[in-house]
Amino acid sequence: MVRRRIDASHIVAFQHGEHRYLRGGTIVTDGNEIVHVGPSYDGPVDETIDASGMVATPGFVNTHAHLYESPLDKSFVEDLGRRQFYLSGLFEYLPVRSAAMDDEAAYACLAYSMAELLRTGTTTVLEIGSYAEEAARQAERFGLRLYMGLGYRSGRWCTDDGKRVRYAWDEQAGLDGLQRAIDFIERHDGTQNGRLKGFLSPAQVDTCTEDLLRRSRDAATHLGVPLALHTSQSVNEFLEMTQRHGKTPIEWLRDIGFLGPDVILGHCIVLAPGSWTNWSGDDIAILADTGTNVAHCVWVFARRGIAMESFARYLARGVNMTLGTDTCPQSMIEGLRYTAVVGKIVDRQTEVATAADVFNAATLGGARALGRDDLGRLAPGAKADILLWAGDSLFMTPLRDPIRNLVYSAQAEDLHTVIIDGEVRLRDRAVPGVDVGELARNLQAAGERMWANTARGDWAGRTIDELAPQTFPAFVAE
Ligand SMILES: [Zn+2]
Repeated sequence: MVRRRIDASHIVAFQHGEHRYLRGGTIVTDGNEIVHVGPSYDGPVDETIDASGMVATPGFVNTHAHLYESPLDKSFVEDLGRRQFYLSGLFEYLPVRSAAMDDEAAYACLAYSMAELLRTGTTTVLEIGSYAEEAARQAERFGLRLYMGLGYRSGRWCTDDGKRVRYAWDEQAGLDGLQRAIDFIERHDGTQNGRLKGFLSPAQVDTCTEDLLRRSRDAATHLGVPLALHTSQSVNEFLEMTQRHGKTPIEWLRDIGFLGPDVILGHCIVLAPGSWTNWSGDDIAILADTGTNVAHCVWVFARRGIAMESFARYLARGVNMTLGTDTCPQSMIEGLRYTAVVGKIVDRQTEVATAADVFNAATLGGARALGRDDLGRLAPGAKADILLWAGDSLFMTPLRDPIRNLVYSAQAEDLHTVIIDGEVRLRDRAVPGVDVGELARNLQAAGERMWANTARGDWAGRTIDELAPQTFPAFVAE
């Protein structure tokens, strides 16, 4: 095993249960583990990384992603979100993308996404998707720490007229999907030197039967894996659940025994109370009391004009907040920044949703949701998942408080080196052995095939230019 020292000008070190700022120090790793963090180190090492001028932080834990499809949101779903579905794109646009994509497109997305995550600081990602074997293969190729959750559900939503949401049920498909997810976990959990893990991911609270959710809850307990579910992500879903059960989605999940400290709910935006529905209740208290974690994916909502009410309030009430990217761009750098900014706007306060709050959510919060005390921190005993940021770059200068600069000013190009499990996976902003240009070309081809097929899954049979017109009209040759 290689014993390596990293001498950095700025280190976000973990001490006495929290992140602390170490001005100039040394991180020592032995194989895939951190063995020392401090102002100095005198012992022998095999190699040294000179990170003078750089900021060393733990890698980000990205708790909610759909790597196999989200890159194809780009050039498509932005600026779209109709009032009929309370600004959500779930019911009208996502089914179109799914029906128009082919398997090759999903593979292209997975490979591209791994590179995008590395370039933007994710070292651990929770993938909710359909292509587990390929995701595992790409995670191994890129060295990412992957939690794979094969999605499954008892029904799916659609719209026949662009006005109402309709549910089409197939209960057996949900049960079969749960079994496939369990099989994958039993075969793969703990492989790739422990970097590949599994979790259970029934898809959405409104598309899973109570029976499927109870079975998922039991299986997660039995397997000892996390359990994720999309919940309270749209007004339509919230109202659907209240009509079925007379309860908010979160009240219902509590009552069927689903919630707990191993549960990660994306996204918990539409809650009671809240301005989106004006229902009374206290869903935040239920999340806090049950120890349930929230995967907050600010951008997928903010770009449609939807915001959590509010990030600071959930934190203050004791909810463990984590961050995910969900859609594209799959950048935790942007996730931290938008969480801080949107959180301030919602509360009309500057001193909430601080750099510390969002940095903690992206590191310690995510690790806690996974039951891991060896991720999201730079401390002896933790995994060697380390980001080295250029502290003297155009965007990071002047640097006095590295966390403020990272949250409010850093760009992806400031991330210089990524180490995961003790291996250098991004070196001088490049992914060793990977032709990023080829990843982009494959994604472009996947997009062009998808755009040609949007009519297939659209209720009105629209072309891409009818569904998502170009931002500006075409230039006319005269
Ligand atoms: Zn999602």
